[in-house]
Amino acid sequence: MKVIFLDFDGVLNTFEHLQKVADRSEWHVMIDPEKVKLLNEIVEATGAKVVFSTSWRKLHASNKLFKFLKLNGFKGNHLGMTPDFNDNSHRGLEVAKWIRDCEVDIQSFVVLDDTKQFSKMPQRHVLTDMFTGLLPEHVEQAIKILNTPFDNSKEFL
Ligand SMILES: [Mg+2]
Repeated sequence: MKVIFLDFDGVLNTFEHLQKVADRSEWHVMIDPEKVKLLNEIVEATGAKVVFSTSWRKLHASNKLFKFLKLNGFKGNHLGMTPDFNDNSHRGLEVAKWIRDCEVDIQSFVVLDDTKQFSKMPQRHVLTDMFTGLLPEHVEQAIKILNTPFDNSKEFL
């Protein structure tokens, strides 16, 4: 199984997109469907499934987050969310914990996130930012990473 650990803010949206959104009572409108198209490209090329690592998971169940993606045209599937350590500086540790606890064999994974909280897994991290969000070059990078087998004896675990 291939896994995409997915952040939302700064990956699936940008400052520019958020400024355009007038009514923020609907969460899904804060996601940019153009960014979801790029995410679809990663999913279509690799068959990877999404695990939510976004801070949005502190407010919504994973089925709800999945629904927000579907409303924006997402064609993939999801496997739930990373645990919440209640500490914004440890998103990488939350990802590592999810991988350790996962009962299915993980062939490879990639982290899409605009924060630098993944110092123990730099080779698995595609760093985006709030100005551009996910870009075609990130898609290419993510596909390359997902096509590189994960060896947890040699990587961060
Ligand atoms: Mg973010």
